[in-house]
Amino acid sequence: MKDARIVYGMCTWWDTIDQCSKLPSGLPCCPHCGSVLFEAANEKEWWQGVDEAEKTNPGHRAKVESWRGRCSRTEGFDPNGQAPPMRGGRDAS
Ligand SMILES: [Zn+2]
Repeated sequence: MKDARIVYGMCTWWDTIDQCSKLPSGLPCCPHCGSVLFEAANEKEWWQGVDEAEKTNPGHRAKVESWRGRCSRTEGFDPNGQAPPMRGGRDAS
């Protein structure tokens, strides 16, 4: 069965666990900035948490949707500001 876990970091990056990098210690980390990631059991649980935050922070879900695979630390956008502009490739840099 496919590993459906979602991992996410404080830098805004999140994706399925097969997209993340690993630290030498084996901990999952952001493939861009290397910050340690947290884990949700699956995408359903992940979005439930996001929707919960949306109640007190309108617009949060739209931002999170735009953050998939995006690292605010290496891309230099403000996680508290506007959603970052969309770009073509996942790893243009
Ligand atoms: Zn990052």
